[in-house]
Amino acid sequence: MAATLDLRTFIRDVPDFPKPGILFKDITPLLRSADAFGAGVEQLAAPFASERISCVAAIESRGFIFGSCVARILGAGFVPIRKPGKLPWTKRRNEYILEYGTDALEIHDDAITESDRVLLIDDVLATGGTAAAATALIKEFGATLVGAGFLIELAFLEGRRKLGDVTTQSLIQY
Ligand code: AMP
Repeated sequence: MAATLDLRTFIRDVPDFPKPGILFKDITPLLRSADAFGAGVEQLAAPFASERISCVAAIESRGFIFGSCVARILGAGFVPIRKPGKLPWTKRRNEYILEYGTDALEIHDDAITESDRVLLIDDVLATGGTAAAATALIKEFGATLVGAGFLIELAFLEGRRKLGDVTTQSLIQY
């Protein structure tokens, strides 16, 4: 794997998707490249390698792609954070505002315990509404939220401010 691989060159800009005015960051070219995908998940995991992460929580659906790989690299379990109506068991829920709409997130209520050291993973940090809702949900369990990692950060939207004191890492900034 090339150490100098520029992950940015594997992100495709798609104007006006899914709504007019949104410049969508398409990660599928990165996923399609074995080297770029491998480098991406390795780099997402690296800052947290010595943090004794017990579970990686990731946001549906693109977050699952990266989060599950990061969990394996860190030797951690995986917790899916899902949109309403998808999880079969009893769950906790949090509502949030998106860059393009509103939604809610849910986690099974037995998925995280107070003794967990949790890493949150998603593909894109945009306005931060989704990640802030996810971090609030994780904290409700009494777990330690060690940090949050994103492949892409739309820094001009200042989403990281919504995450407060959560250690936040991103691999590509715009
Ligand atoms: P936000 O709550 O605004 O931070 O939005 C983050 C979520 O929406 C992530 O799960 C992303 O997958 C998705 N998202 C928001 N904006 C974009 C964008 N410009 N390109 C791709 N995905 C986006």
